[in-house]
Amino acid sequence: MATRLLANQIVLITGGSRGIGRAFVQAFHAHGATVTFTYAGNHAKAEETVALCGGEVKAIQADAADFGLAQQIVDQLVATHGRLDCIVNNAGITRDNLLLRMTEAQWDEIMDANLKSVFNYTKAAAKHMLKQRGGCFINLSSVVGVNGNAGQSNYAATKAGIIGFTQSVAKELGSRGIRANAIAPGFIATEMTENLPEAELARWLQGISLGRPGTAQEVADLAVFLASPMASYITGQTLVIDGGMQ
Ligand code: NDP
Repeated sequence: MATRLLANQIVLITGGSRGIGRAFVQAFHAHGATVTFTYAGNHAKAEETVALCGGEVKAIQADAADFGLAQQIVDQLVATHGRLDCIVNNAGITRDNLLLRMTEAQWDEIMDANLKSVFNYTKAAAKHMLKQRGGCFINLSSVVGVNGNAGQSNYAATKAGIIGFTQSVAKELGSRGIRANAIAPGFIATEMTENLPEAELARWLQGISLGRPGTAQEVADLAVFLASPMASYITGQTLVIDGGMQ
């Protein structure tokens, strides 16, 4: 690695066992950050991620929707390392259904895992970042949160909510040197997208100028940039990374 953009940074990434989150863990680690990540329950994938980083990152099983647990994890991290530079709120799930068929459980589960989780870790970290007068939040939204998508009204509501939340946090905490930005990926090849019906896959690909899905690594490159000093004057933004989706 020629340039280590995140040397000495203490970073917490939610949902780092697979997909885009795993790419974040690997990229942040490669750029010199000390990385801890959480995951929901997939121990094998979490261990695989740790191994891919030569055992130099830490995995914690923790439901991101658990408010008290988020406080504990963040406080412990600061007790261990003395500071916390960046939270990447990445954990997310889908429970797709058309509105008329959507159950209350499908709505509530998505709100807790995708949106409340972002509040949990942001609130837990903000008090430490305020004291150290610096820090950065990167929150995973989606193009679906910007444009909506039939069959994903619950998911889209959380991803739009993350944008409003991120903009508000940026305004509240900016004067203390704390930045908050959202990333809105388009169609990225991960387990979340690999089970799409063929017709829907073709529909997505047709609308992408670059004619292919994005990779988790490409999203991770953007996150590394946002966490680095190179992005020191960027806050309150939603950065769309979608290969030119029409
Ligand atoms: P994956 O399904 O591949 O991975 C999800 C990750 O989140 C896993 O590490 C999973 O842990 C973890 N996770 C899920 N629920 C919880 C929870 N309640 N508490 C803690 N961890 C949890 O997802 P992607 O990598 O595809 O997506 C990552 C983020 O990017 C999500 O927020 C998603 O909405 C967003 N996104 C993805 C796009 C895509 O095309 N893939 C497009 C736009 C946005 P475990 O392994 O234990 O289950």
